[in-house]
Amino acid sequence: MKAILFASDATPLQIAAVKRALMTDGAAGITPLEGDRAVFLVSDPADEIRLEAYSSMPGVEGVMRHEDKNLRVAHDTPPVDIESGIEGLTMIAGPCGIESEEQVSTVYEHLAKEGLRFVRGGAFKPRTSPHDFQGQGKSGLVMSYEIARDYGLQLVSEVVDPRDVEVAARYISMIQIGTRNMQNYPLLKEAGRSGLPVLLKRGMSATVEEWIGAAEHTLVAGAATVIFCERGIRTFESITRNTLDVLGAAALKEKTKLPVIIDPSHAAGRRSLVVQGALAGLAAGLDGTIVEVHHDPASARSDAAQALPLADFTRLMQLARNVRAAIHEVYVY
Ligand code: PEP
Ligand code: MN
Repeated sequence: MKAILFASDATPLQIAAVKRALMTDGAAGITPLEGDRAVFLVSDPADEIRLEAYSSMPGVEGVMRHEDKNLRVAHDTPPVDIESGIEGLTMIAGPCGIESEEQVSTVYEHLAKEGLRFVRGGAFKPRTSPHDFQGQGKSGLVMSYEIARDYGLQLVSEVVDPRDVEVAARYISMIQIGTRNMQNYPLLKEAGRSGLPVLLKRGMSATVEEWIGAAEHTLVAGAATVIFCERGIRTFESITRNTLDVLGAAALKEKTKLPVIIDPSHAAGRRSLVVQGALAGLAAGLDGTIVEVHHDPASARSDAAQALPLADFTRLMQLARNVRAAIHEVYVY
């Protein structure tokens, strides 16, 4: 990564001239940083841009190479418009998969009453077995989009094929990248190009650094922002479906101002542990949660064992508010 630091009195015209020169020279991406003076981070994977040529341009104070490859993750400002359900948090809930009009409207009506703004529902389901429910694809997306819209809600949904991003982006407000695809770089780039916020699940065997790299790809490609989501990782332990790495997620927050949320459902694998996981994340200072809920969990066509009934979600919201009030900025050192 290369960086160009402008003088504090650089004019907009001088800055624009540098930007034009970088684009002519073939910069793959130019990221302006917020701050008391202008800085451009320049992505130049082909290493064709000679920084020295820029140091003498009017308005430029200095040029440098940055060792840190993940500057967007490190410096992007937190998004302001993803609050959902609880002040300062992003609470997301909904069924694992979109199944029927009755299911979606019953669940979304309840979630709208809880004050949520974002709801989930999978239309393209990545399943371990090809014989299991694969989701309803585009028709499911359209149906849940329309129901969500009628309740004033916005849809978060997973895309697994880069070719589906463009159509899906018409109906969803936040693209979910699933754990199995965290390092699917063509998909990350296509999701980024949509310009939507991307909810990026941690790969089940990915380190936090690899997760950061995946987010950087998405941001450089054009994503409005990234919401990191810890959903449990593979360990030797099998008593839960995955091992919820709460401190890994908290450690990530030391490296980024972007939101980090918890998905306790896929970590727990059963509903008796979902609330604890969500609250543990909030108690650790994380920024919200995404939880699977169903009006009739026994009938859910995917992830039935971990679906929370609606009343339990209401209880979770009450407890989450209490935890939020109790921790109150304890984690700023
Ligand atoms: C999901 O959210 O339903 C899902 C498949 O999640 P993950 O990618 O975390 O397994
Ligand atoms: Mn699921």
